[in-house]
Amino acid sequence: MNTAGRLAAFRRRLAGEEGEAALVTLPVNMRYLTGFEGVFDEGIAAAVLVTADVARFYTDFRYAEAAKVAAAGTPWAVHIQADSLYVEICRELRAEGISTLTIEDSVPFGRFKFISEQFIGRVVVAEHQIEDLRQVKETAEIEAIQRAAALTDRAFDHILGFIRAGMREVDIAVELEGYMRMNGSEGLAFDSIVASGPNSARPHAGVTDRVINDGEFLKLDFGARVDGYCSDMTRTVMVGEATAEHRRIYDAVLLANEAAIAGARAGMAGSDIDAIARDLLTAKGFGENFGHGLGHGVGLAVHELPSLGRASRGPVRSGSVVTIEPGVYLPGFGGVRIEDLVVVEDGGVRLLSHSPKELIQV
Ligand code: ZN
Ligand code: ZN
Repeated sequence: MNTAGRLAAFRRRLAGEEGEAALVTLPVNMRYLTGFEGVFDEGIAAAVLVTADVARFYTDFRYAEAAKVAAAGTPWAVHIQADSLYVEICRELRAEGISTLTIEDSVPFGRFKFISEQFIGRVVVAEHQIEDLRQVKETAEIEAIQRAAALTDRAFDHILGFIRAGMREVDIAVELEGYMRMNGSEGLAFDSIVASGPNSARPHAGVTDRVINDGEFLKLDFGARVDGYCSDMTRTVMVGEATAEHRRIYDAVLLANEAAIAGARAGMAGSDIDAIARDLLTAKGFGENFGHGLGHGVGLAVHELPSLGRASRGPVRSGSVVTIEPGVYLPGFGGVRIEDLVVVEDGGVRLLSHSPKELIQV
């Protein structure tokens, strides 16, 4: 991972926005900037401070050893903090003559308020500073996502041989998740969705103990995490025999998925990529049944920039990794979503998901 390049790019961006010092406190952004692994958790009091000539990582006693190992040979200095992390950082900034401090727009409000009260000077909330940098992936990042996607494909292949009518959704979720964990996934990219019959008509149904019947859709949305990077894929299979109505819905979603994959390329607005799938589903009479955006960026976080939705105006940049996930949901009956992970390039998109997409009856 090119962490020296990331730090340089972040400093250029900070300077471009006339920022003097930036305090980064969200684990995913700290991980991206430093490239450190195994020293972040959601509950940790840690922070990253960047100025034109300071690159400092603050952590506590629990991660002291790991952080020093991770920082060896990098531009990062490690400071081990005692109790009051932000109080001490604000005191140091004052001593160093810093008068303007930039913080992320996604920090919890309580933290923003606390830092604003502690810092003698101006606190500036910067929009998507690191999130923008994270959009365009390095080759090594794409390779990590590719490994996570390959594991997701293998898990799908495995679960096809496991699913039977009469099982509960949770039985399938546990088997799917167990397979990914046993084969190299670091936890899960996100909470899986295993939704059967009428539950599949809810886009984010989760997993219940509902027993799956013959003649129902089964929607599986799941992802692995490899070297910190996520994958995200949805397949909808038919348990038992598909009716003409099942096929009509499935074929429309597949057509929309394939058309968006064929038509998307770097430089297009996210809304224009979304429109390829949406216009097709609207023409098939399913416009009202596709109520979410077509896709989202995937990387260290499973949902990140760029977004591909009706309101996504900005151009999608070459090197972004996004999902293409049209869906049709008919309340009371069922729903279909087909989601692939792709790398956006100048000439088009490259698929990272390779699981079959024809309607599979199990
Ligand atoms: Zn998904
Ligand atoms: Zn997704």
